[in-house]
Amino acid sequence: MENKGRKKFRNKVFAVFILISILPLLIVSLSSLIIVIKTRQQNIAELQNLAIETAGEKTNAFVNEKMELFNLVLDMDGDFSTLDPETRAGAISALENIINNISQTVGDLKEISFTDKSGRELVRRSGVAPAALRNIADEPQFQSAIAGDNYYGEVMYTAAGPVMVLASQIENKNRQIIGVISATADLKALQPIIGDISIGQEGYVYILDNKGNLITGYGDNAFKTGDNLRGIPLVAGVMRKETHNGLDRFETYRRADGTEVVFAGRPMRTLDWHILSEWPRSDAFSVIDHILMTSLVITALTVVFVIVLSLFMVRQITKPINSLYHAAKHISSGDFNYRLRLKTKDEFELLANKFNEMIKVLAENRKLRDEFVFIAAHELRTPVTAIRGYISMILENTFGEISKEIRENLLIVNQSNDRLVQLVSDLLEVARSEAGKMKIEIKDIPMAENVTTVTNELKSLAGQKGIKVSHEKPDKDIIVKADSYKLKEVLTNLIGNAIKYTIGQGDIIVKHEIKNKELITHISDHGIGMTPEEVEKLFGKFFRAQNDETKDIEGTGLGLFICKEIIERMGGKIWVTSEKGKGSTFSFSLRMA
Ligand code: ADP
Repeated sequence: MENKGRKKFRNKVFAVFILISILPLLIVSLSSLIIVIKTRQQNIAELQNLAIETAGEKTNAFVNEKMELFNLVLDMDGDFSTLDPETRAGAISALENIINNISQTVGDLKEISFTDKSGRELVRRSGVAPAALRNIADEPQFQSAIAGDNYYGEVMYTAAGPVMVLASQIENKNRQIIGVISATADLKALQPIIGDISIGQEGYVYILDNKGNLITGYGDNAFKTGDNLRGIPLVAGVMRKETHNGLDRFETYRRADGTEVVFAGRPMRTLDWHILSEWPRSDAFSVIDHILMTSLVITALTVVFVIVLSLFMVRQITKPINSLYHAAKHISSGDFNYRLRLKTKDEFELLANKFNEMIKVLAENRKLRDEFVFIAAHELRTPVTAIRGYISMILENTFGEISKEIRENLLIVNQSNDRLVQLVSDLLEVARSEAGKMKIEIKDIPMAENVTTVTNELKSLAGQKGIKVSHEKPDKDIIVKADSYKLKEVLTNLIGNAIKYTIGQGDIIVKHEIKNKELITHISDHGIGMTPEEVEKLFGKFFRAQNDETKDIEGTGLGLFICKEIIERMGGKIWVTSEKGKGSTFSFSLRMA
């Protein structure tokens, strides 16, 4: 119970140490980790946006570069229908030169055609070769361009790759629209431009047309040019004109090959296309993984270190407390010679010094008390013994005949005086024993003979109560090492108690037993017995069981204490087994000669 309490204190101190050291450590490392991760997310989003921005600019440049070639102003008045045949032929030949020029400089423009205002083609080239002329008045590229708007057609996916039709108007020197130039742009050329844009090791950018078909750039091989990617929910979001830039919301999804990728994307500003970016999470966070691992190891090591340190500190704190506890235990058991030795150079050392001073004071007090009891008892002995002598002389009519009334009252006085004599002699004995002044002369003495002497002395007392005291004598008397006078005192006390605490009938048996070169003597009665709690306190000073049965039995509560002191001084032990209402057996051991 006491030990448990001490452990609890140690645990409390340990818990406090852990709480004030590890908790802040964990909070700090956790929050810095969160900050690092958040910052990294921000960086990832910024890098992806930058890549998308770059891809957008490059795509625009790719398309516009072509469109700019188309913005032609011809050095002529009116339109082709008003020209005379000769001038018209000259103008057409000039257009042919322009086309040759364009197809030579811009290799990815195929199927270039010139029409007049009505949609009739004047020149058409498939690559550099002339091709059959057509009327394209009904086609959207013509209608859009003739109305003054540059035309960007829908992307078409051919066996040779993605293509789109571009168209623009031709003006004369008076800025009047006199025809349309259109061509098919080969978008394969976009592939290296977009493919060159990388983010980290594995991040990439890809472009989808207005329907969600892949123009170029998807990272793994799950999709090829022309495939529709609308099935990816995040892509579908961008198709709905949402901007996913990762700055306000970090988004990831699992690619067809199982790789988790960080996603960003937005519609293009000029063309009706979409630019998206994906960055495998493991690559994007590879820096963080390293930081995470390092800080995990550092935190774990620190935690272990803190725990070890805390255990050490807790030991340092509880050690002096344990020493104090042990000292207090010694003192409470009456060992006043015990001294605390604490060299902690702090309050504990001061406390230990005070504690030692306190032990000294306690020891002095006890000495004074013992001396007082001894002197008091000693001084009381002479008068009470004298009183006893005079009373018995009066009772024996030494000073003349006394009346019956005086005799009766004097007998009561005599009885009380006897109790006083017993108390004084018990006190004196106790005081002697505690002062180490109890005289014991150990000799080889016959046990059974001593028992017989005592039982004979107590026979009449037992007889008065109708109790028989029997002694199971051994065949041959056994010699023990003891002080004969003191042994008789013990036997008188134990057999006397057996008689005293037997109410009504109940015989008393004294018997012996040899065990390990010791003689054990048992005194059994069939008296009132004791509870286990009473047995526990039995050999203490002034202990008397308090109950209805004992309330009329006189005694000092010192007898058994003296018996114990005597037996132990003679090198033996004394103990009891008892059952309430059934009786008790007092036993003591003595060394055999
Ligand atoms: P006391 O003078 O009171 O007899 P003792 O020290 O001899 O003092 O005994 C202490 C107490 O132990 C007694 O008061 C009594 O309650 C109990 N006791 C001693 N011997 C017996 C016994 N044989 N049977 C029952 N109780 C006993």
